[in-house]
Amino acid sequence: MPELPEVEVTRLSFADRIAGGRIESVTVGKALRWPLGLAPQLLQGRVVLGVRRRGKYLLLDLSEGLLLIHLGMSGSISFGLDLPPLGKHDHFELTTPLGVLRLNDPRRFGAVVYAAADDDATAHKLLGRLGVEPLGGAFGAQEFHAALKTRKTAIKQVLLGGEAVVGVGNIYASEVLFRAGIRPTTRALRISRPRAVLLHRAIVEVLTQAVTKGGSTLRDFSNAQGEAGHFQLDAMVYDRAGLPCKVCAAPIKTMRQGQRSTFYCANCQKP
Ligand SMILES: [Zn+2]
Repeated sequence: MPELPEVEVTRLSFADRIAGGRIESVTVGKALRWPLGLAPQLLQGRVVLGVRRRGKYLLLDLSEGLLLIHLGMSGSISFGLDLPPLGKHDHFELTTPLGVLRLNDPRRFGAVVYAAADDDATAHKLLGRLGVEPLGGAFGAQEFHAALKTRKTAIKQVLLGGEAVVGVGNIYASEVLFRAGIRPTTRALRISRPRAVLLHRAIVEVLTQAVTKGGSTLRDFSNAQGEAGHFQLDAMVYDRAGLPCKVCAAPIKTMRQGQRSTFYCANCQKP
């Protein structure tokens, strides 16, 4: 599943190149998770002004309205002047003189949705509950700690919930909790201020690192074959069940939380 760093790298890979492009045509394939919400031909003639990101949504700002793009479980975007013919998993395509933007999504949990404005009902439904962005200046340690204080559930579930901060997906949740020395089952409201500060720092560092690493693959993104999936993360705990902890050599443990796998070191991470 594409996580926030992958979505951000995707954005960086085409945002500058598509800006200023006037939409010549739109092709909609098989149904995605949600319908587009307007007749595709109505997009013709509108200009792509730029691309923002909010959580795992790409926001394609148009001269009138915007498109919200979500990559779902298996989506990937390619952008280029010379894409191969549409394949059976290509379900959305937008053509401009600057290049063709295409969504490939074999499992079709992704979506392209039109909204008239940032704050209309459609956009609000999808973006309204998202927490603060972890990258950029808005994510503060004090505010993060305050948000944790109001939540009784396990810290890993709080991170995945995306209301205290967006973008910490399943892999990154295990990794940042290891870095902060916090057991994934610890109830969020029990986390002290110093530990919340450590966790805040870990979130910023791990996600920034992932974007930076992903940035080095921009060359691959910019050719016709966009590639989704996780960047090679130098995982400390994720997917390392039974292997020795890289810090203390104790075997890494695994458990299920909300039907997702969690990995942790019982020695390095305290309840
Ligand atoms: Zn350890």
